[in-house]
Amino acid sequence: MEQLKKEFEQLLKDVENQEQLKQLKAQFLGKKGKITAFFKQLKGLSEEEKKEFGKKINELKEFCERLLEDKSKELFERAKQESLKKEAVDITLPARGANFGAIHPITKTIMEIEDIFKSLGFGVESGPEVELDLFNFEMLNIPKEHPARDMQDTFYIDDNVVLRTHTSPTQIRVMKRQKPPVMFISPGRVYRRDSDLTHSPMFHQIEGLLVDKNVRFSDLKGVLSEFLRMFFGDVPVRFRPSYFPFTEPSAEVDIGCIICKGKGCRVCSHTGYLEVLGCGMVHPNVLKNCGYDPDEYVGFAFGLGIERFAMLKYGIDNIKLFFENDLRFLEQFSYSKGRLL
Ligand SMILES: [Zn+2]
Repeated sequence: MEQLKKEFEQLLKDVENQEQLKQLKAQFLGKKGKITAFFKQLKGLSEEEKKEFGKKINELKEFCERLLEDKSKELFERAKQESLKKEAVDITLPARGANFGAIHPITKTIMEIEDIFKSLGFGVESGPEVELDLFNFEMLNIPKEHPARDMQDTFYIDDNVVLRTHTSPTQIRVMKRQKPPVMFISPGRVYRRDSDLTHSPMFHQIEGLLVDKNVRFSDLKGVLSEFLRMFFGDVPVRFRPSYFPFTEPSAEVDIGCIICKGKGCRVCSHTGYLEVLGCGMVHPNVLKNCGYDPDEYVGFAFGLGIERFAMLKYGIDNIKLFFENDLRFLEQFSYSKGRLL
């Protein structure tokens, strides 16, 4: 029995997992186990011997059971510690990097334009995108039969309500609300039934209006020339006579082609100039419609497409890129290319 006890202790030392422990237990305490075999030998002994010998076997059995239980606890604890070690998170590791949002090129262009006009003394106003026909057309001197009011060009909500086709109705809203002088720009979304490489059914405009006493066409020229040079750099600016229902006289404004520097290329249709905005002196009917006396007050107004300005400034050749949300495009406008450095 002493020998068996030593053998058991020796074998227990080498046990490394629960499976080996189970085998060792079966080997000694199972039905055919070495200790169990001692109990079978009791049969041929006297009562006295049975008592004494039986007691010793039981002691051995209990001794082994206790050691097995301790070992089992030890193995369990060891396995737990190992798995904790394996699953541990190293909180001192540096982060993998987070994506930063970036200003959308349209928003960025609006902000740049706003900054320039603010520096010239203009305020910033906004108006609703769903607009009354009255403000979008009628009061801007665009009569019922005007082609701009055609179903082909305008999204109608009902007979009296449209998705605004330009930011100009903000002029009406501000003038109805406020006595002259007024001096503001108004950026925002506008809607037209138009879609190709340079036109999108939804796009952005900035409207500008200045009404005061003694405003002259040369003031309009000065403000717009200064603005265009501040936005595009030192480019030639020219005014061409044009027609808009809400201004008289009206003009379209060109800048020297920033791609070919005036030599002539595909973008400027080999003219050396790019049309960038429309403007003019506010039509007396528009002032009258808003309760301003056209004999006392004069004003100028202008409107420009923000997508066009952004496309020219950043060399973008397809307007759809602005609205596809493709990160490869948008990341080019992010200072850190969208990644935390
Ligand atoms: Zn050109």
